[in-house]
Amino acid sequence: MAYDFDLFVIGAGSGGVRAARFAASFGAKVAVAESRYLGGTCVNVGCVPKKLLVYGAHVADELEQAAGYGWTLEEGHFDWGTLIANKNREIERLNGIYRNLLVNSGVTLLQGHARLTGANEVEVEGQRYTAEHILIATGGWPQIPDIPGKELAITSNEAFYLKALPRRVLVVGGGYIAVEFAGIFQGLGADTTLLYRGDLFLRGFDGSVRTHLKEELEKRGLDLQFNADIQRIDKLEDGSLKATLKDGRELVADCVFYATGRRPMLDNLGLENTGVELDARGYIRVDEQYQTTAPSILAIGDVIGRVQLTPVALAEGMAVARRLFKPEQYHPVDYQNIPTAVFSQPPIGTVGLTEEQALEAGHKVQVFESRFRAMKLTLTDIQEKTLMKLVVDAETDKVLGCHMVGPDAGEIIQGLGIALKAGATKQQFDETIGVHPTAAEEFVTMRTVTR
Ligand code: FAD
Ligand code: NDP
Repeated sequence: MAYDFDLFVIGAGSGGVRAARFAASFGAKVAVAESRYLGGTCVNVGCVPKKLLVYGAHVADELEQAAGYGWTLEEGHFDWGTLIANKNREIERLNGIYRNLLVNSGVTLLQGHARLTGANEVEVEGQRYTAEHILIATGGWPQIPDIPGKELAITSNEAFYLKALPRRVLVVGGGYIAVEFAGIFQGLGADTTLLYRGDLFLRGFDGSVRTHLKEELEKRGLDLQFNADIQRIDKLEDGSLKATLKDGRELVADCVFYATGRRPMLDNLGLENTGVELDARGYIRVDEQYQTTAPSILAIGDVIGRVQLTPVALAEGMAVARRLFKPEQYHPVDYQNIPTAVFSQPPIGTVGLTEEQALEAGHKVQVFESRFRAMKLTLTDIQEKTLMKLVVDAETDKVLGCHMVGPDAGEIIQGLGIALKAGATKQQFDETIGVHPTAAEEFVTMRTVTR
């Protein structure tokens, strides 16, 4: 049967754009449907605008440090409207770049919501298209627990477009987004409280990292409240919001920001017209080659709920394009040792196993840990400490995990990701000459076993 397209991609986000562009460059006839914004979550309401706001908040640190270096500055003033307008302009520029990337690769770009009408058929704006392969790359969407008053709360989607910086913010959650946005709001001057339902936030990260970040955030005056969860939210007469906690306490703020995870975006996708099944957590079930339970339909990225990071969605998109249209270049995505950063203030960089995971996996573990005040702070009164930690297999000497909390952690961890992928040993770390004077050199000069 002749199809309209070789590949029809639903969603022009990180994974969808990568798969579409490369499939087209391999000679396939490709269409992409996008209902909302080119570039998806990462470009519009994720990584990119988030990092710009983090930079904005970080200026406060630079200003605080300036005095130690002899600079006297007029009293600073921050304008939220300027930051958001400049951020929006940059996002529009990126939307244009994504459009050009797709169009110049020969991809047919369809604007509108796509709905599956069969295993090889998609409907967009009343028009039906057939395709030999369909790729679902529809991403995710924030979810707020079902509590009275949830409609009064916002998520990251809305935070990027707030008209004004709220004076008092309650951030709910203990994952990436909660920690990052607590730093943004606080850094820009809002009175910020982070509420997390468990004993300590960032579940799944290395224990030393979690404790260290907690201590550093508290030093900065962030109000961290663990074992705290909101039961209901009410609007008060003056327009502010009252959050009643499960333990009966009441907190008043101007904004309640929820970052309690994301669900797969499957709204009105028409999965019922196909044989596509979901897994136990509600994400699209795929095999190792991203094939769903309907053989002509594939899925990648946040919608399969594996590792919800842009570079992972990109790698999955690339793998799909190669497997379908350039099989000689295909290799599976390696989910081991994925480096990642949390852009908190100070940021976290991490790759490989945590100490807890290494012990659980049965490794005999040696831990090297170092805490120090970064050189840049020595001419200031700021007492922030950087943490660096290596988790090493005592029998093979292989470095199993590298963890850091401190300035530029995301930048530093990228290179260590390569070392771990190459299977580096602690001895090879030790034999590597440091770059002096940097914080990063500490990773190759830690000699004393801490545990
Ligand atoms: P998406 O990028 O979400 O793209 C899906 C696209 O599909 C969207 O454009 C959507 O409009 C479209 N769509 C959905 N349904 C339909 C339909 N039926 N028809 C047509 N179009 C449809 N990751 C990092 O690696 N680093 C970070 O710093 C980082 N920061 C983040 C900060 C925030 C606040 C958030 C929310 C996420 C962040 N992420 C970060 C995660 C990253 O954004 C996602 O992992 C990534 O965008 C997933 O890509 P995707 O292709 O699966 O989906
Ligand atoms: P996460 O899954 O990382 O964190 C969700 C948090 O909300 C957890 O602390 C969780 O607690 C808590 N939570 C979940 N349900 C409830 C509930 N009903 N009531 C109270 N608390 C609840 O999700 P995020 O929304 O922070 O981010 C989504 C994903 O996006 C991340 O996992 C990450 O993959 C990606 N991302 C990556 C970034 C980066 O690379 N820098 C930045 C931002 C996002 P508990 O631990 O107890 O379950």
